[in-house]
Amino acid sequence: MREDMPAFLGEQLLLQYGEEEAARIEAGLASRRRVSLRVNRLKAEPKAVMEALDEAGIRYEGVLWSEDALVLPDVREDALTALPLYERGEIYLQSLSSMIPPLVLGAREGENLLDMAAAPGGKTTQIAALTGNRAMITACERHAARAERLKFNLARQGAARVTVMNIDARQLDDLFSFDRILLDAPCSGSGTLALGALGRRKAQFSRELLARTAKTQGALLEKALRLLRPGHEMVYSTCSVLEQENGEVIRRALKRGGVQVVPVDPAAFGGVPTLPVSVPGTLCVCPDERYEGFFVAKLRKAER
Ligand code: SAM
Repeated sequence: MREDMPAFLGEQLLLQYGEEEAARIEAGLASRRRVSLRVNRLKAEPKAVMEALDEAGIRYEGVLWSEDALVLPDVREDALTALPLYERGEIYLQSLSSMIPPLVLGAREGENLLDMAAAPGGKTTQIAALTGNRAMITACERHAARAERLKFNLARQGAARVTVMNIDARQLDDLFSFDRILLDAPCSGSGTLALGALGRRKAQFSRELLARTAKTQGALLEKALRLLRPGHEMVYSTCSVLEQENGEVIRRALKRGGVQVVPVDPAAFGGVPTLPVSVPGTLCVCPDERYEGFFVAKLRKAER
C-alpha cells in the first residue's frame, strides 16, 4: 500500500477485499477525480447546459445511466462556479456516485419524503428535480451552519417544497411517517479520500472512529425504518467502501426483521465500476477517476 494510505484503512481494505481489489480501490483514491455536474431540470435542460459549456470552451462527457450527469475532464471546479449558469442554479456540482442514491430511491410526485442527513443538499435538490417539485420533502440536518448552507442551495436550485429541520434525525418524533426515505448517512468518507492530500485526516482514520460512525449509522437506520410507512421503501447510502459502515449495518437491520433488500438493478447503472458486496442486491461503487467510492442499499419495510 502507498505511504499516504491511512494504516488502518489499508489494513481493512486488504482484509475485506483481498490484494487485487484493494489495489484497485487504492489507485482510485489516489487518482485525480474529474469534476462532474448534474443539470438541474427545475431550471434547465441538458441541451442548453451543453450549449453554454460549448460556448465557454469546456469539454464534457456523458454517462450511460443519466442524461443529467456530465463529466468535465479538463477543468477544475472554479471554471464552473464562474459560469452564470452555476450562479443561476441551472447546474449543481455533484459527484457521479452521489447521484445514484436518489435515482435508486425512485421518488414519485405527490409523495411525502424524508431526507434524513441532507446538507449541503445535492441529493435533496436532485429529488426535488426528479419529482418536478411535486413531492413534499422534509430535509433534516443536525449541524446549524450546514442547515443554512442547505437552505441556500435549495433556494438557488429552485427546490420549492422542502422543509428544513435543523435537528439530529435520531430525535425525530416517531409520530412522523413517510412514503419514502433517503438516509445518506454520515460516514468515514473512505470512498472519497484524496490520497496525497489527506493531511491530518490520515491520523484520524482509526478503528475507534469507524466504530463510532457505524453506531450512529445503525441508530439512524433504525429510526428511518420506524418512520417509514409499512410496505414502503427507503435507501441507505454512504460514501464509504468499508463493510462496517455498509454490509454490516444492513445485516443488523435485516436480522432485527421486518425489512428486506430490494435489489439495485445493475443494468440501470451501466458503466459504473463496482466492488463485490456481502449483501446481495446492494451496490458498492469502486473509486476511480470518474467515480467516488459509494454504497447504496434499497430496503422495503414489511407490511404490518
Ligand atoms: N446528503 C447530502 C448531500 O447529498 O448533499 C450529504 C450528506 S453528508 C454524507 C451527511 C450529513 O449528515 C452531514 O451534513 C452531517 O452534518 C449530517 N448529520 C450527521 N449526523 C446527523 C444526524 N444524527 N442527524 C441529521 N444529520 C446528521
